[in-house]
Amino acid sequence: MPSLVHFLADDARGLWQSLVALAFGGVFFAGLARLAKPRTWVADGRAALPETRVNAVLSVVDQLTVTPAVAVFIAWMGTRLREHGLQLAAPEIWASIGPAPTFLVTVFTGDFIGYWRHRAQHSKWLWPAHAIHHSDTRLTWFSLERMHPIDRLGSALDTVILAALGFPFWAQAGNVFVRHYYGYFIHADVPWTYGRGSWVFNTPVMHRWHHARDVAGSGSNFATVFSVFDRAFGTFHQPGPCDVALGVREDMGRGAMGQYLHPFRAWRAAIRSARATAILPAE
Ligand SMILES: [Zn+2]
Ligand SMILES: [Zn+2]
Repeated sequence: MPSLVHFLADDARGLWQSLVALAFGGVFFAGLARLAKPRTWVADGRAALPETRVNAVLSVVDQLTVTPAVAVFIAWMGTRLREHGLQLAAPEIWASIGPAPTFLVTVFTGDFIGYWRHRAQHSKWLWPAHAIHHSDTRLTWFSLERMHPIDRLGSALDTVILAALGFPFWAQAGNVFVRHYYGYFIHADVPWTYGRGSWVFNTPVMHRWHHARDVAGSGSNFATVFSVFDRAFGTFHQPGPCDVALGVREDMGRGAMGQYLHPFRAWRAAIRSARATAILPAE
């Protein structure tokens, strides 16, 4: 029983720290929006409130349940990989090249893994869980908090793969930090395209095109930090500012509960449809 009490106390402490960090994030990104769009930032912020409320519910539930579970899963997998000598690169390699190159290689590799994981999340059977993230029609930095627990587990595999490749723990943690906070940045409601900088880095406009609905560009820009992967694999799309409608075609149901149930409904419907097709006589 005491361990349960400690677990709940840690959980509550973690939630409080996350809420404080999110409050700072809110102030920071409101300042950015004011800088980028001095005439419309207040009206745009107000228009985003209904979607922000859904994101807030999913965020709190995530902090209380999914985040601790994902942390335990990653730590457990990391320990098992170390114990069984299943890490590809020996720790001495990182000591020989130094901390800064190690960190850069880790984030670059993490983004490469994330690129392909994100492409997989857009495949037929994984899309229903990822569609929750895409259902926000008013993209703001806080939209990153809109994730289904199943989708979050998929993202956690990035770190497990980095552990299997043998990257040091501190660099894995740094990769999560950089890609998570840069993730907030590319969701921000600011019309920045970086000019030539977009040859290397992902931009808020690129990610807005990724969230576009029903138009060319909605299946593009999968990386988080480096646009070089999208350039290399033919998924880069940034024809200019993104002013098209955002969101998904599917009906996601009502509020946060509709979001949680959506993938299960979608999978059940897909399985029924596949079965019905299988028993229909060929014409
Ligand atoms: Zn996506
Ligand atoms: Zn997104």
